[in-house]
Amino acid sequence: MPRVFCIANQKGGVGKTTTAMNLAVALAKAGLRTLLVDLDPQCNATTGMGQKPTERHPLVVETPLREAARPTSTPRLDLVPGTRSFRDVAMLAQEDSTQADRIRQQLVQGFGAYDMVLIDCPPSVGQLTRTALASASEVLMPIQCEYFAMEGLAQMIDVIRQVMHTDGCQLQFGGILLTMYDPSLELTWEVEKEVRDFFGEIVFQTVVPRDVAVAEAPSHGKSVLDYAPRSRGTRAYVELCMEVLERDE
Ligand code: ADP
Ligand code: MG
Repeated sequence: MPRVFCIANQKGGVGKTTTAMNLAVALAKAGLRTLLVDLDPQCNATTGMGQKPTERHPLVVETPLREAARPTSTPRLDLVPGTRSFRDVAMLAQEDSTQADRIRQQLVQGFGAYDMVLIDCPPSVGQLTRTALASASEVLMPIQCEYFAMEGLAQMIDVIRQVMHTDGCQLQFGGILLTMYDPSLELTWEVEKEVRDFFGEIVFQTVVPRDVAVAEAPSHGKSVLDYAPRSRGTRAYVELCMEVLERDE
């Protein structure tokens, strides 16, 4: 069975999509067959990988994931693109447990061909995020080093716990990642201390620095690893990749 990471945080702009894309590319470059699933209606992971969103969402029209997954410019990395169809997005977000179950099964059935799956979630604790969590083996939560970083996390953690306690669920806490880390700011140190004191060893040693190369890369349809191989951002995501692989017990 593949390791399936759900990249989730109900806040927007914390680095979910950036982490999903760059960690996926790093894992594929490390030799693992990797699938990136774009579940956010904003489709940032799709466009950031230099691809186009689809007309209809494969999970709504029930296209098997194997057919919906497209190869990317990175060997061993496939992408299930997102859609901007409002109707499909609304369908996916519906609180309908039969449909949620069907979507979860469709996801899980498509994961078999991969070693690693990363799901980029929308910034909410709505049905789509819960379905993604239920399909995953690990939740990876990026936290931005800024004031209010921990605000609203209680609700997210509640939802994660609820999903963990449902029958047959494999979900574990895969890790917390500090993003947009700026050691020149006192605030960064304060947030880091608060997060590490609260969450303990599930917080990754690796932190992702604030680096303009990380922000620029998606506008070139590339990961930071391909756009700026020697940047600090690249070094951080390669290090994160190794830490993720080490945590596989
Ligand atoms: P989310 O998916 O959680 O909404 P994104 O990954 O889209 O967050 O990141 C939000 C914004 O911050 C984007 O414009 C992205 O390019 C930028 N960003 C993310 N990580 C970094 C970083 N380490 N350094 C600089 N900019 C970053
Ligand atoms: Mg995003």
